[in-house]
Amino acid sequence: MSPPFKLRPYQQEAVDATLSHFRKSDESAVIVLPTGAGKSLVIAELARLARRKILVLTHVKELVEQNHSKYQSYGLTGGIFSAGLKRKENRHQVTFASVQSVSANLDQFSDEYSLIIIDECHRVSGEETSQYQRIIELLRQQNDSLKVLGLTATPYRLATGWIYRYHYRGFVRGFSEEQDKPFAHCIYELPLSYMINRRYLTRPELVNAAVAQYDFSALPQDRFGEYAEKDVNQLLSKHKRVTRAIIEQVMELAAERKGVMIFAATVEHAREISGYLPEHQTALVTGATDLKDRDLLIQRFKQRQLKYLVNVSVLTTGFDAPHVDFIAILRPTQSVSLYQQIVGRGLRLDEGKQDCLVVDYAGNSVNLHHPEVGEPKPNPDSEPVQVFCPGCGFANIFWGKTDDDGRVIEHYGRRCQGLLEPAEGDKPAEQNGRPQQCDYRFRFKECPHCGGENDIAARNCHQCRKAIIDPDDQLRDALKLKDAMVIRCAGITLSVGGSKLRITYHGEDGEELIESFDFSKPGQRNVFNKLFGRRFANSQAPKVFSRVGEVLEMQGLLPVPDFVIARKQKHYWQVQERIFDYQGHYRKANEA
Ligand SMILES: [Zn+2]
Ligand SMILES: [Zn+2]
Repeated sequence: MSPPFKLRPYQQEAVDATLSHFRKSDESAVIVLPTGAGKSLVIAELARLARRKILVLTHVKELVEQNHSKYQSYGLTGGIFSAGLKRKENRHQVTFASVQSVSANLDQFSDEYSLIIIDECHRVSGEETSQYQRIIELLRQQNDSLKVLGLTATPYRLATGWIYRYHYRGFVRGFSEEQDKPFAHCIYELPLSYMINRRYLTRPELVNAAVAQYDFSALPQDRFGEYAEKDVNQLLSKHKRVTRAIIEQVMELAAERKGVMIFAATVEHAREISGYLPEHQTALVTGATDLKDRDLLIQRFKQRQLKYLVNVSVLTTGFDAPHVDFIAILRPTQSVSLYQQIVGRGLRLDEGKQDCLVVDYAGNSVNLHHPEVGEPKPNPDSEPVQVFCPGCGFANIFWGKTDDDGRVIEHYGRRCQGLLEPAEGDKPAEQNGRPQQCDYRFRFKECPHCGGENDIAARNCHQCRKAIIDPDDQLRDALKLKDAMVIRCAGITLSVGGSKLRITYHGEDGEELIESFDFSKPGQRNVFNKLFGRRFANSQAPKVFSRVGEVLEMQGLLPVPDFVIARKQKHYWQVQERIFDYQGHYRKANEA
């Protein structure tokens, strides 16, 4: 039987990548395709090729239905197991199911399955973790070489991090090896820009003409860079005029548009927005909307009886209305993936559709085409920067800052994310087909016992397992002592006398501490190189200096410690500790 659809080249590549991965491995895998790439076709083709039973899981009935009908359009028959769709069939070779319905009826899944496909698989790391895991565990009891494949457009979430660990392009995700990931390998990925450039998706017209913008930046963020709902509501309640002005502009810009989706920050906000829009043209959908009403509203929106669809975040996945040609973003987000997903709602191709207008009223300044860094943005003016590893050459993407020429002047990367190719005959580097992560660190704490370099948050040395002194303890202890001096270091200056290099550490209040390194003495030269040479140019180009003159020439790129601790001797203060890359409770120099 020949398929009625010809797969697009990248869809075929995704299918091929899956087959070749599972031929050599039982470890779980993820395919990352942007919204609108046609995941359901990839699923249908994989289902068509499978010879044994497979289960296609997802969390909303709309997607169960979509995936099923795509499969049926091949002239094949698959079952649906979804209470929401009032069908509970699991006798077919391929079953399309909702995760809730399967986990509520586990006793009906005692057959042997060869493959589970999870659509929108980033949910596995979220609220439905246990449901998915229980199904996988159960089916694995029937077949211990059960394969698990996930598909998603958003492999990274601020709250839960990356959903996989190893990327097929030779790098690793996340900083901590201990961190559990729901999937092992990303085996295929396509960026959104690829889809747009090849006209598989509509071009977004990003307009920077917002009449007014919210400024969420002053609100406190949680550790994922997200805001508390009550803070957002409080801020928005003070800016009703702003909201009104924004909606007036949205209506103006919408005059020539067919379908408008408005993404609100909170439910309260969404209600307010709806209030400013023409009642008979507006649908409001929130998490609290009754499912029947929601289906009806969405139906009417798709039929273009309603022009405006206001929602909070319920419509970021599994919602498909190709005629949408205007996206208004009134909610804050720092996640490139979520931003792409929101914008993606307007990028489907549709007859007569030229582009999709995108206006950001929340000042997110997310670049749609930026890669996801995979860490919360450390501050508003950071951008993704490329940092080559001096160890292995891998091009890391970290948050950072560049100068006017685009040179990286600062970055927040901690450890290189490159994967090392195992050397010929070097078996230990590879365990269960898993390559090793490059050990080069851009920010580190040195172990006082063995000299090993550790992550700045490490409590025990990864080499010798001994406890590493917490810099906060170090500072607290020093601050208690009468004969100790601690400065928040704001900068250093150098001077030279013969072979001696004199470093002056400047505290933010004008205090000074001084130490010297005699370069004619190998021991002192070594200490200097370990402290300063190793961290030269944000650790992007570590150096071993042999002459004082060299240091002086390149002093602009020397690292500056965050704190310096000295002890009083008879006639002077002797520097004892220089704390670099500090992360802790004390304020650093020039920090608010
Ligand atoms: Zn590296
Ligand atoms: Zn150690």
